[in-house]
Amino acid sequence: MTQGAPLKLKEANSTKFDPIAVSGFSHLSDTEKNFIFEILSTVRMSFSRARLFVEAAVDLRQWDSKKVHDIWNSLKIKNGIPPNMLLEKFMEYIAKEREGIPSFTERKTTPEKWVHGSFAPLSKDNQVVGDCPVMSKKTVCCNLKTIDAVTNCVMGCNYCAIQTMHSNDNVFVDVNLLEKLRKVELDPTRQYHFGTGQSSDSLVFGNRNGVFDALMEFCRTNPNVFLEFKSKSSNTAWFEKQKDLPANMFFSWSLNPQEFIDAEEAHTASLEKRIQAAERMVKCGFSVAFHFHPIVWFSRWQEAYSAVVKAVISRFNPKDIVYISLGTMTIPRSVRKKIREAGITTQVVRNLTAENPEGKLTYPDTIKHELFAHVYKEFQPWHQSVFFYLCMEEAKFWHPLFGFAYETNEKFELAMLQAIHSKLKI
Ligand code: SF4
Repeated sequence: MTQGAPLKLKEANSTKFDPIAVSGFSHLSDTEKNFIFEILSTVRMSFSRARLFVEAAVDLRQWDSKKVHDIWNSLKIKNGIPPNMLLEKFMEYIAKEREGIPSFTERKTTPEKWVHGSFAPLSKDNQVVGDCPVMSKKTVCCNLKTIDAVTNCVMGCNYCAIQTMHSNDNVFVDVNLLEKLRKVELDPTRQYHFGTGQSSDSLVFGNRNGVFDALMEFCRTNPNVFLEFKSKSSNTAWFEKQKDLPANMFFSWSLNPQEFIDAEEAHTASLEKRIQAAERMVKCGFSVAFHFHPIVWFSRWQEAYSAVVKAVISRFNPKDIVYISLGTMTIPRSVRKKIREAGITTQVVRNLTAENPEGKLTYPDTIKHELFAHVYKEFQPWHQSVFFYLCMEEAKFWHPLFGFAYETNEKFELAMLQAIHSKLKI
């Protein structure tokens, strides 16, 4: 068998299945590719089985785990069974691997994959105001409104859905956000919670094209708006230099243990830098919030999250904390496809063996209950003084944690608005 030249798919296997079409196949080594062709030519299997077999090979490479041919051959030796029964053994092995708890201690991400793009002015008359892109009637949701001042991102979180929303890596910064926000009609008799961190990072780009100026005017002209700047960056410089900023806004950071940040959140600020940025904004007279989202299941997760929660409780006064949100790793299938296509090494998809009501990949319920129970327990000193909620989760996860769940998203939204209003320095 000549090295590099893939075997031609023989007709022996009637599935006419083409492994090359599987996302991520191109990133496999020639040895892995030739082995896959050999198995597909010699072991009878259905189209869907063939797909699962090749996807497993791609995922093993993604997890930086053993190679498909090494596992197959070790199972062969161990079991001494015919090839078609070996396929079942192999799939059982992969199912166990998907349940295996990942470790991040030695892992460093491959940041260069995500940040090719350049800045491009966004001058079309697009709608900048909308609803939270992952809001759902099937989960308990807060009806967050969004402002897309910037779309796409230069940071590289491996699990981020933003990467599937754009055909290229350019980052679009709105050039006439001010005019667009002036056209937004709001009901002056009700309050609104807006966030700017759903289509990109709220802080990393600074006041490019005057987007912060536009947002400040929007806050001043709409005192019934509570504007949240959600970020994984520590770029608060512009806000620290300003005088008389509107009070109806606050800042929030997504927090995770540093080993996860190192492994899966490339080009983002370190945990310490995010906490320091929040401390600076409290010093500037603002309230802040923290998002434990995604909470991730990995070896050492309990002590790792306990340390993060301890740091937050020891360095902040609950009167300055608007809320704490909790959510587990949950990704659309399009992100898994993108991750496979990119050929990056990551563990973020490995244990997502269940589906949420929206068909998104997530952890099995047992793991989710465990993650929520531990992190919320660590926040016990703040249970009576800070608003806690689950983001993008079903009511079945609220009851064991909080003893209740909002019957409607509207009731959740009202409670959220009251919590925000009570903590802003208005
Ligand atoms: S709970 Fe989370 S997903 Fe749902 S609307 Fe609010 S921010 Fe969006």
